[in-house]
Amino acid sequence: MDNFNTIKKLKNGTVPEKQELALLLRTITSEQTEDLRHAAQEKAQSVFGNKVYIRGLIEISSYCKKDCLYCGLRRSNKNAVRYRLDKAQILSCCETGYRLGFRTFVLQGGEDPYYTDDIMCGIVSEIRRHYPDCAITLSLGERGYESFKRLYEAGADRYLLRHETANAEHYSRLHPKSMTLRTRIESLYTLKEIGFQTGAGFMVGSPWQTYENLAEDLLFISELKPQMCGIGPFIPHKDTPFGNKPAGTLETTLVLLSVIRLLHPPVLLPSTTALGTIHPKGRELGILHGANVVMPNLSPAEHRKDYSLYDNKICTGEEAAECIRCLSLRMKNIGYEIVTDRGDFKQT
Ligand code: SAH
Ligand code: SF4
Repeated sequence: MDNFNTIKKLKNGTVPEKQELALLLRTITSEQTEDLRHAAQEKAQSVFGNKVYIRGLIEISSYCKKDCLYCGLRRSNKNAVRYRLDKAQILSCCETGYRLGFRTFVLQGGEDPYYTDDIMCGIVSEIRRHYPDCAITLSLGERGYESFKRLYEAGADRYLLRHETANAEHYSRLHPKSMTLRTRIESLYTLKEIGFQTGAGFMVGSPWQTYENLAEDLLFISELKPQMCGIGPFIPHKDTPFGNKPAGTLETTLVLLSVIRLLHPPVLLPSTTALGTIHPKGRELGILHGANVVMPNLSPAEHRKDYSLYDNKICTGEEAAECIRCLSLRMKNIGYEIVTDRGDFKQT
């Protein structure tokens, strides 16, 4: 067992063993990282060319009834400033976004009971009616079969629900007792079955995570084959129990992006804001390591700083138009082009 063979397997489309993946992540050299990066970038380009898809992120609520230990929006965080957007505010974000070329809107928020199925379906169907050519992505946490189904029928196309970690023991250390990995995974299979393009994903470097855990995440992705996969470094938030824990690293996140691209070539893989937060060129590096999506912020500028999942989040000061201009330039500088396209999942 050595990294050379593991990398060879990844390039051939063979799924390595868990121990091989763990060893690779633990001991990869800079030459091997570059080799993997090159293969992943080539693979991404064979599917998407030099095109990067954009998703307009609308952070609809900072209220959350859950208490995930890592997250600044957790309900126990009494210092969090809470806001929520109503239908008119969300539609106005979409209007701005549409004018700027966005054809996917991602409505993300804490698990806020204000958004009952009736309210949420009302919002989704209104966006659907105004923007029939756009994809609607939801990222609103766990809601149960009936709710997911109604949202799908109201016109939502995609759902992001990261599994966070595929190891049940590790999951239980990151979440209160009331949350289980089993429910997460069942939700992901339910979403897929309903017909959503479904996004799983995990944090890199979350407290107590081992390289074996990350290998389990990779194997879970290669088994579930989600249409999307969101990964980014864990970043501490000062008002959470993990406030003093170290952040995940740029290097490991980049290697993981490359491995995921090779394990599941058609996956829609964002270069995340968290990656851009831990390194000034993080999002560019993510694309160069095999990612193909960026998610500029379309949230109203006055609320951005209050959607605080982790400390020092970037792009909380700008208007949407500035964000897209900045990202277009960043992508152009590395030879990529942002496109106006729904950017749906396509099986290769
Ligand atoms: N409430 C929804 C959506 C908002 S949270 C949900 O939980 O699915 C979106 C993602 O932010 C989470 O899936 C998690 O992976 C990420 N996140 C939360 N806190 C974070 C932190 N401290 N560092 C990095 N990512 C974090
Ligand atoms: Fe709520 Fe999502 Fe944060 Fe968990 S990760 S506390 S569900 S916003």
